[in-house]
Amino acid sequence: MTSIVTLGSHCALQVLKGAKDEGFKTLLICEKKREKLYRRFAFIDELILVNSFNEILEQHCIAKLKEQESIVIPHGTLISQMSSSEIESIKVPIFGNKWILRWESNRNMKEKMMLESKLPMPKSVSSYKEINGLVIAKRHGAAGGKGYFLTSSAEGYKKERDKLIAQGLIKGDDDLYLQEYAFGVSAYLQYFYSPINKNLEFFGVDRRYESDIDGLGRIPAQQQMSVDKISSFNVIGNSPLVLRESLLDEVYTMGERFVEAANRLAPPGMNGPFCLEGVYDENGQFTSFEFSARIVAGTNLYVDGSPYSAFIYNEPMSMGRRIAREIRIGKEKGELSKIVT
Ligand code: ATP
Repeated sequence: MTSIVTLGSHCALQVLKGAKDEGFKTLLICEKKREKLYRRFAFIDELILVNSFNEILEQHCIAKLKEQESIVIPHGTLISQMSSSEIESIKVPIFGNKWILRWESNRNMKEKMMLESKLPMPKSVSSYKEINGLVIAKRHGAAGGKGYFLTSSAEGYKKERDKLIAQGLIKGDDDLYLQEYAFGVSAYLQYFYSPINKNLEFFGVDRRYESDIDGLGRIPAQQQMSVDKISSFNVIGNSPLVLRESLLDEVYTMGERFVEAANRLAPPGMNGPFCLEGVYDENGQFTSFEFSARIVAGTNLYVDGSPYSAFIYNEPMSMGRRIAREIRIGKEKGELSKIVT
């Protein structure tokens, strides 16, 4: 019997609940420190206890997963805790396209994918000497917004950079990527693409609450000016959003362009869930600063379905459940090879 497995973090509860609802056995690779939390949930059939998630690369873990005919569902924790080569070397089928995860982790590859998708993007700034307006400085890798800062001058940049160096978060300029700040209303667009029925589903939208940038608005400008602290964009949680209906057509078009570009650049393409992340400006134009080529934690909002999944499914459909449904259909049709790598 096929088992669905994921790492105990990020969106594991949603993924395994969805897998259970679709009739799969559920396994969780769980750090010992989180055992108590995950034992609370009856839909998790078995915990594989580990000291660190990297044990998924070790023989004892692989043997156990193979014995249970496991399919691994990748999420943000897998990306942030393992290198692309490590993920690619996992000897158990991974849902979706494990090769595209490298395109998410590497900033240059990411930029190429977004350009190929013709997604409007904020310009990158090649050196702090070129700063001319508000920019965001981001650390490489999936740093989750920690230690990112805003600045509008070379002087301001150097001051913040030196603080990050002193904190041991970066070594120097090479560890920072500069991008023009995109003004507008943030929106994280969640999609699912099925290579089995060759169809794109728009699943929902969320906004992220990031600390401490989203808390700054509570402090009057005068006090903000007097605080000498590096801002940060560390995700704390997500809240729901519905878009003006007139924006939906373009949402689908952008998603389709992304799927087409991924097919060309990263075969077998963008299979399964993904997210386009950016802001809408005052004209309703979307500028995208990021994509995730796998399920995002913002989908945790919609465990019972979203205002958009309700138009596609006459039953509660979370992203976790949609993944499990795809695996079920893939198995029934003998097309599993299309949806795992
Ligand atoms: P994650 O892996 O969690 O998606 P990340 O490290 O790849 O994070 P980004 O998603 O690129 O980082 O950025 C983190 C946050 O910083 C975004 O959610 C957004 O709030 C803000 N941000 C990033 N780039 C821009 C930009 N160009 N303009 C405005 N805000 C931005």
